[in-house]
Amino acid sequence: MALSHDTDTQTSADSGKLHAAPPEQRHSKPPVDPASLKHRQLREDDFWRAIPAFADVDRETFLDTKWQMKNSVYKEESLIATIGDVAPKAFVDDVLEGFRRAPMAVRVTPYILSLIDWSDPYLDPLRLQFVPVASRLMPDHPMLSLDSLHEQEDAPVSGLTHRYQDKALFLPLNTCPVYCRFCTRSYAIGVDTDTVEKVNLKVNPKRWEEAFDYIASRPELEDIVISGGDAFNLAAKHITTIGERLLDIPNVRRLRFATKGLAVLPMKVLSDQKWLDALIGVVEKGRRMHKPVVIHTHFNNPNEITEITRQAMNVLFERGVTVRNQSVLQRDVNDSLDVMTLLVKRLGEINIEPYYVYQHDMVAGVEDLRTSVQLNADLEKRVRGITAGFNTPLFIVDAPGGGGKRGVHSHEYYDRSTGVSVYSAPSVKAGKLFMYFDPLHSLSDSARADWADPSKRDQMVMDAQSAAFANMKGH
Ligand SMILES: *Cc1c(COP(=O)(O)O)cnc(C)c1O
Ligand code: SF4
Repeated sequence: MALSHDTDTQTSADSGKLHAAPPEQRHSKPPVDPASLKHRQLREDDFWRAIPAFADVDRETFLDTKWQMKNSVYKEESLIATIGDVAPKAFVDDVLEGFRRAPMAVRVTPYILSLIDWSDPYLDPLRLQFVPVASRLMPDHPMLSLDSLHEQEDAPVSGLTHRYQDKALFLPLNTCPVYCRFCTRSYAIGVDTDTVEKVNLKVNPKRWEEAFDYIASRPELEDIVISGGDAFNLAAKHITTIGERLLDIPNVRRLRFATKGLAVLPMKVLSDQKWLDALIGVVEKGRRMHKPVVIHTHFNNPNEITEITRQAMNVLFERGVTVRNQSVLQRDVNDSLDVMTLLVKRLGEINIEPYYVYQHDMVAGVEDLRTSVQLNADLEKRVRGITAGFNTPLFIVDAPGGGGKRGVHSHEYYDRSTGVSVYSAPSVKAGKLFMYFDPLHSLSDSARADWADPSKRDQMVMDAQSAAFANMKGH
């Protein structure tokens, strides 16, 4: 049977089953109103001028990376001085208390600050990610631990996590252009806060040499993720050193520079020529060696994408740099079908390939941002099909305890009432089970009461494990 490429209008003379429908029965899609294609509509106004401190800032200044860095907000006083009285007073008090209790250091660029709707800050998806408020903090899940991904346990040398067979995660530095409330690496990222003391992963070319030596000593290692911290905060000369040193290791076949920068400081690509040239230099060296060097970035909400982002992406696209995106699924940030659809389509619009949507890791102090695994799985089902398959992200759970990334639907067992899901990871740690715990706010009152009781807690965990083993024996 011959298969036409265009299956909607398929006709086949020699098949009894495949007929073109008579014209009056064909389903033709009505055209869509272009005004509804919101993913193409990017902000191009001087949006920062709504912030009192930036009211007189012209476009050229706003697009200057040095100005952005200099005017980034680290302290509650500077946040309040910057936003002035655009936010409600009760909210400002809430922020002051939130800063005091936050386990992460705080750092936000003027770009991000200006994209927040301060007249309605509680539900603003960017405020939720960067600015803590005390009244919305929730107690952590009883099963939570710092470094829930066991990145340090899987680290043969400091700042290099070797969990999967052929790929490793290299952490050359511990700073970022912003600090996200929900950072998985709060064990290392940013300065010490009152509640957390950090592992030391400062910029240190000597420490890096140990990582390079280890990578060169392991012939199976082909794929290196250069993360951190954030590659936007690496000096141009360090981009070159790290990139060239890794490309020159014969077993290394692929590099990725990980940065949130495109989402929070896109003007760097437009105004920091030295850094851009260093990056492009590594990409081009890689291309000559037939080794792809790409960027992995981190957008969570469509509001982070503006005309400035498009301009930055146009530069990267013209220079032949592939950019992929990894989002974290977060309550009220991107947990609805409309927002996730808009994010995925808008990323595609500016030539960023949506790669992953992560189930939120179990991180201290951000219980309000987590969602259930069920929500993730439902979202996956609805998003698949809205656009090209290669622009459709994989929805995953990075299994706590070092199991690595698992497709969200692939649990061996999931008890929706206790919120315990159990995953196995045969290619990473065969024979072990990994558990994820839905946030308590997604559970019923009685399930929440059970989690408060330590003996019931152990029972729920054991029951889930036995059920998972039983299911696995069944196959
Ligand atoms: C995510 C991750 C990688 C890269 O995994 P991909 O699925 O290829 O993106 C490598 N090492 C560690 C420890 C990771 O967490
Ligand atoms: S940019 Fe990435 S590494 Fe840095 S604080 Fe945010 S999530 Fe963590």
